[in-house]
Amino acid sequence: MPGIAENISRIEVSLAKKLCSLGRQKDDCLLVAVTKTHDAETVKQAVLNGITHFGENKVQEAIVKVPALQIMLGDSHPFPSFHFIGHLQSNKVKALLRLSPWLIHSVDSYDLAAVIDKYTGERIQDILIQVNTSGESSKSGMSPDRAKDEILRIAELKRLRIRGLMTVGLLGEAPEEARPGFRELKQLFDEIADIGDERLEMRYLSMGMSDDHMVALEEGANLVRLGSAIFGARNYGGTP
Ligand SMILES: *Cc1c(COP(=O)(O)O)cnc(C)c1O
Repeated sequence: MPGIAENISRIEVSLAKKLCSLGRQKDDCLLVAVTKTHDAETVKQAVLNGITHFGENKVQEAIVKVPALQIMLGDSHPFPSFHFIGHLQSNKVKALLRLSPWLIHSVDSYDLAAVIDKYTGERIQDILIQVNTSGESSKSGMSPDRAKDEILRIAELKRLRIRGLMTVGLLGEAPEEARPGFRELKQLFDEIADIGDERLEMRYLSMGMSDDHMVALEEGANLVRLGSAIFGARNYGGTP
């Protein structure tokens, strides 16, 4: 699997450099390796090269890959934290929860949150609220003007712990085009933190992908989700 190890160390160096240049601690950003379309063996290689968090965007894919990776790693290596980052349908929630996700990034409505709360059982499930900052109707996420009220409703659910916000930036020609959306999410993040409600933790600001994560870091991201920068092009046809 040539390349993955080099990519990971190159990314770790560039993240640290960027954070330093912004006056932030060099470890003030969680790197989530996005492993969608790559097989469990590839994920294992990433884990052996230092990846401790990985993300999947489809439940059907995760329910095969996560157990396969557990078997491959066995007791020889700590299991990495599993993030769910894709659009989540209510009828897939039970299957997802069986995988004990460390963090679900894509909670975009009270109704979905209520379903997760209902099925999470004895666990407290950590979630992020996904906000649609790009204004594209094709994208998931709640609208920024509804977000605060909706988050306060979700905070009533006893088995969920809100840990921050997530967005997918505008996927334009240039990374710069994502900046206004990132800035808007950071502003919302700060406003919610200022409410001072202990149920609204605002720990993670999940924004930035391979193409636009440097812009996201400049706008305050402390969790980036990188796929192709680590693994190269994804192996499916059509749009990435
Ligand atoms: C695929 C995906 C990523 C990673 O995208 P890359 O451009 O490969 O880094 C990040 N976030 C979400 C929600 C994704 O679906």
